Amino acid sequence: MNKMVSIVTPFYNEADGIDLYFESLLPLLEKMEYDYEVVCVDDGSRDTTFAQLEDWNRKDDHIKVIKLSRNFGKEAALTAGLDYCQGDAAIPIDADLQDNPALFPQMIAQWEAGFDVVLMQRKSRDESWFKRSSAKLFYRFINRLSNGGVPENVGDFRLMDRKVINTIRKLNEKSRFMKGLLSWPGFKTTTIVYDRPNRAVGTPKQSLKNLFKLAFTGIFAFSSFPLRVWTFIGLLITSGSGVFAIFLVTKKFLYNAAPPGYLSLMVVLLFLNGMLMINQGLIGEYISRIFDEVKARPIYVVDQIRKSKADDE
Ligand code: UDP
Ligand code: MG
Repeated sequence: MNKMVSIVTPFYNEADGIDLYFESLLPLLEKMEYDYEVVCVDDGSRDTTFAQLEDWNRKDDHIKVIKLSRNFGKEAALTAGLDYCQGDAAIPIDADLQDNPALFPQMIAQWEAGFDVVLMQRKSRDESWFKRSSAKLFYRFINRLSNGGVPENVGDFRLMDRKVINTIRKLNEKSRFMKGLLSWPGFKTTTIVYDRPNRAVGTPKQSLKNLFKLAFTGIFAFSSFPLRVWTFIGLLITSGSGVFAIFLVTKKFLYNAAPPGYLSLMVVLLFLNGMLMINQGLIGEYISRIFDEVKARPIYVVDQIRKSKADDE
């Protein structure tokens, strides 16, 4: 029996791009000497995405469609796709063809060479200066905090062996930062560098607000450093104010100079209260995430499934 490769793609309002997606993907897959399936997750699209995916599912029995009950976001949609894929390896790729399917053979070759994870690293980011530099800053920050767990300029586009998929499926936390979760299992990893183009059609479906939310999830879900840092800040302030107190008392007794009260008190008061509020906010971030975990709601809800050939075997 041939090994099977699963291509996993989340779709959210991608009606304009679906035909192009399958037309560029399927010929490449047919040429390979592997079994394959394309797992399409419709993340609650409001346009004709699901109807079009159904059409493709009828035309080609390699295509499986999972329709979620509403929009759960890309991270959840990708999770659904990994849960429902059956391949010996999976490759998540975006519907907008920013991840080049022509690289599949190269990725699979590395898998055959014994690597469990093949990371695809973007050489150039053909995106706005703002998106590029904010991404750079974010990776530097999160890697400093989480001990280098998130490779820079590597997206969800990668190949994962079944071992890795099964490990990721056990990570059922609700606060999902896929790049971190996908990298968490480790295993034998190699990296291929490639050029990432702009979106083929349509507009980005992830708003800037969502990307920021995701960045925060990344930080808070993968590091407790922001919580711990306050211990050090507290220690610093306490010892600092101790020294200041000694200074003031000495001044009083040696020179009989009383410190000017109002201004200095005001500054210290406002400063410390500000710090306390920031700290409260930070703790709040973690508590809200703990709250989400404790509620233990499902990460996504499936509405309908259109099976592929692999489901009948
Ligand atoms: N996507 C999704 N749910 C969403 C937003 C996006 O499934 O709520 C999908 C989208 O259809 C695409 C992929 O996630 O296949 C990446 O989206 P996009 O190109 O907008 O994001 P970016 O390239 O900026 O990461
Ligand atoms: Mg995109």
